[in-house]
Amino acid sequence: MDQLIGGGSVAALHWIIPHTHLVDEKGSFRPNLLRTAYLVAFGLILHDVPEGFAMANSYIASPSLGILMAIAIAIHNVPEEFAMAVPIVAVKKRRFLYTAAFLSGLAEPVGAIIGLVAVHFHPALNSFFMAFAAGAMIFVSIHELLPMARRYHKIHLFVLGSVISVFVYMLLTAVVPG
Ligand SMILES: [Zn+2]
Repeated sequence: MDQLIGGGSVAALHWIIPHTHLVDEKGSFRPNLLRTAYLVAFGLILHDVPEGFAMANSYIASPSLGILMAIAIAIHNVPEEFAMAVPIVAVKKRRFLYTAAFLSGLAEPVGAIIGLVAVHFHPALNSFFMAFAAGAMIFVSIHELLPMARRYHKIHLFVLGSVISVFVYMLLTAVVPG
C-alpha cells in the first residue's frame, strides 16, 4: 500500500511538473538542448529526495541496512551524474554544471533530514518513508527507463542492467557486515 502511495505521488509530480526526456520519440536530440538540459537536471535532482529517505529511514530500521543502502545509492549515483552532465556539457554551461551537481548533492541529505525529522515525531512513519522511496524508484524504472529502452530496441540492456544490479546488491549484502 505504502509503495503505491510513493509511486502514485511521484507519478502525480511527474504529470504536474514540466519536464522532458533527454531524447525525443525518434531518438534524435531535441533542438532546444538547453531546455532539455535544465529539465533533465531538475528531474534527477527531484528524485534524489526519496533517495535520501531510503538512506536515512533504512538506517533507522537497521544500521547495517542503512550502510548497505548508502553504498548501493553511492554506486548508482555515478551513472546518474553522467546522465545529468552530458546534456549540460553539450550546451557548454560550466556554471550550470556546477550548480546542478551541487543541488543534486544537496537533495539527498535534504530528503534524509525530512525522513529523520518526520520519524522523530512519528516513529510509525519509518516504514512509510522506505516504502515511498521504493515506490518512487519503481515508478521511474517502469515509466521512464523501460519505455526508453524499448524505443531504442535495447530491452536486453535494461534486463541485463537489472540482473547485474541484483548481483551487485547480493555481493554487497555478503561484504557489508550485518
Ligand atoms: Zn538516483
